[in-house]
Amino acid sequence: MTQLIVLGLVLAGIYAIQCLIWPFAACRSCSGAGKHRSPSGKAFRTCSHCGGNGRRVRLGRRLFGKP
Ligand SMILES: [Zn+2]
Repeated sequence: MTQLIVLGLVLAGIYAIQCLIWPFAACRSCSGAGKHRSPSGKAFRTCSHCGGNGRRVRLGRRLFGKP
């Protein structure tokens, strides 16, 4: 049981370090494109989830404050 807790802590530590180095992930709504294309492919609008930058702050990064 102790091994499981230690393993969990190690994994959480690795995740926290990764969130410090790579604080952003692709927006879930537009998958990082920052915009939604019309069916024709010519027109598009900016993604309202990420405001057009195509990225979201990862959950682990929020623990350390704003990037
Ligand atoms: Zn988006």
